[in-house]
Amino acid sequence: MRSDSIVQASEGVHLVHGSNTNWVILSEGDAVTLIDTGYPGDRALLLESLAALGHRPESVAAVLVTHAHVDHLGSVEFLSSGHAVPVYLHEAEVPHARREFLHQLSAGRAVANAWRPGVSRWLVHVLRAGALTDVRVSAPQPFPAAGPLDLPGRPVPVHTPGHTLGHCVYHLPDQGIVISGDALVSGHPTSRTRGPQLLPAMFDRDRATARESLRTIEKLAGDTLLPGHGPLHRGSVPAAAQLAHERAA
Ligand SMILES: [Zn+2]
Ligand SMILES: [Zn+2]
Repeated sequence: MRSDSIVQASEGVHLVHGSNTNWVILSEGDAVTLIDTGYPGDRALLLESLAALGHRPESVAAVLVTHAHVDHLGSVEFLSSGHAVPVYLHEAEVPHARREFLHQLSAGRAVANAWRPGVSRWLVHVLRAGALTDVRVSAPQPFPAAGPLDLPGRPVPVHTPGHTLGHCVYHLPDQGIVISGDALVSGHPTSRTRGPQLLPAMFDRDRATARESLRTIEKLAGDTLLPGHGPLHRGSVPAAAQLAHERAA
């Protein structure tokens, strides 16, 4: 694991750069909330990142999922069935995690977009990272209650549909941090833009709704953005969401 793969955002809050996707570790003493898990091929990195912060898989109190795409879901079932870790996500994303349906860029559509900048290289990478692996989750659960979750870091789920139907960002209001998954990113191998932006439109289930959800993120107070792709972004979260909204016009 590269030394710059783990970035401390705040006390007990770390953003980890996997091979192409980020995950977030919220630590409280020995206990951890893990938000997303990277690709299936990122498992060793995931376990290394936990170990680097002094945690074992058994320390994970729960896995929260922003959305059920393969690059975020890669080790969820491993933790759930292998280590009895509960898995929570938005109720609209639960059947997606079970793979009752799949709303994800298909291999055929990805190949059809291979002429776009960065897409063919990205495709080679994601195939190596296990993009075609079956990552269905056997026991995903909706959030047990509204508001802050009773887990390390006290994250607050906020529904931000569009990229997928049940996509959620996680707000840490006391720390001014928004963990934004794929609802608002700061970079991607298939984008030439740097800084706050939506992913390229081919990745979104419903682009108009994804753009509208930026208005929801605009209402979240914070000065640090931990996106699902791209580097940690320091600066007003509402302003970042507004910039992404303009750029997606
Ligand atoms: Zn996604
Ligand atoms: Zn993603």
